[in-house]
This record gives sequence, structure tokens and C-alpha cells, in this order.
Amino acid sequence: MNMVTQLLQSWWDLIYPPYCAACEATLTEETGELCLSCLTGLPVSGISEVENNWIAQELIEKVPPVSGHALYSFRQGNNIQRLIHNIKYRKRPQAAYEIGLQHGAVLKSTTIAQADAIVPVPMAAKRLAERGYNQAQLYAEGLSKTMKIPVQELLLKDTFLKSQTKLGREQRYQNVADSMHIPEPSLVVGKHLIIADDVFTTGATMAACARLLFDAGAKHISVVTMAIARG
Ligand SMILES: [Zn+2]
Repeated sequence: MNMVTQLLQSWWDLIYPPYCAACEATLTEETGELCLSCLTGLPVSGISEVENNWIAQELIEKVPPVSGHALYSFRQGNNIQRLIHNIKYRKRPQAAYEIGLQHGAVLKSTTIAQADAIVPVPMAAKRLAERGYNQAQLYAEGLSKTMKIPVQELLLKDTFLKSQTKLGREQRYQNVADSMHIPEPSLVVGKHLIIADDVFTTGATMAACARLLFDAGAKHISVVTMAIARG
């Protein structure tokens, strides 16, 4: 940073002091995107990486067994909901990367760590242009850094989907599946792939991604998300 940008930054910080991406308290220490109390106290999901856990059960109708893990618990009004909102809509992509680093440290000692590649859930080009980043990609890069597994963009999203909120579960799944394709199927054959996304909600997106990868010849799929919404 040169002197002018440094000066501008300090003025900016004075007017808009950097705030924690989760609880929105003013950041007083160099702890990255989250304050110290959030770094240690955000609500964890309690979903451990075991066969047939809740994530696997949600997906079993659509795809062969998968292993899954979510770091945090997302509930209406909690700090994780705020965190995900800030990541997506208030330009805090770095927070997605930092959560990836943390989650990667947890996953390093699980069977998920044996995967060949991390595949971010893709974002349509139009939305990517609007937002400027894909939070699932940044989260995947954080995971990659600690797990030493490469990120590969094996799934591409073709169309800009209309809002899915009014669609039923089956329609959502089909809608997402129809909107994606695998540009290089040969990279998928026989691989253990980790699909990475921000929040596991209905599982429709994950099921569609896993279905496409299994159909292209993936041997095993693991599903990891920053957070999971339940009930
Ligand atoms: Zn905080």
C-alpha cells in the first residue's frame, strides 16, 4: 500500500470500521474476518463425518451413499445466517476462504481427506458477474489450502436459474440438474470428489451435483458445506 491508499484506508476505517462478518461487532484485533469470540464460539453443526449421517440420509433417495460434513449450524436469526448473508451480499468473500481454512483443519483427519479433488458448486456466469465472486469457490480454495487437495471446476452452470423458492423438492432438484454440465467427464472417472457449497438446506443442489458426477463415473462423493440448516 502506498501512502495515499494507506491514508484513504484509515479514513475509511474511521467512518466504516471493519466489522466481524458474523456478529458484526467492530474488529479491534487482527483476527481476519471474524472476531475472537466468533472464532471460538460460533454454533457448530455437531454433524460428524460418519456413514449414514443426516446429510447422507437427505441425499440417499437421489444418489449412492455419500459422506458429508458441515461445520456450522445455520438457524434463522443466528450469527451463521448473518455470516452467510454478509459473505454473499455484503462483499465478504474472504470470510468464505477463512471458513474453508478452518473446516479443512477439521476434515484433515477424516476419510474425506483422501479425496482427489474439491469441486465447488458452480455459479451461473451472469450471477458471477453481478456478485464478483463465487463464495463456494473461495470456500473450496480455503479447504484446498489446508487439506492439500486441488480445486477443480468440474461442474459448470449453464443458465441463470429463476428463484427456486416456490418450487417443490423434486422440481428444485430437476431444475438444478438440468442447468449444469460436466465439460471434461474424463477428469471425473474413478475419482473421489468433494463437492463444496455454502449452506446445505434442502439438499437439492448437492443431490443434483452428486448425481451428475456419479453419472459421469465418479467413484465416491463427499459433500462439505460451511453450514447446515435443519428443521
Ligand atoms: Zn464476531
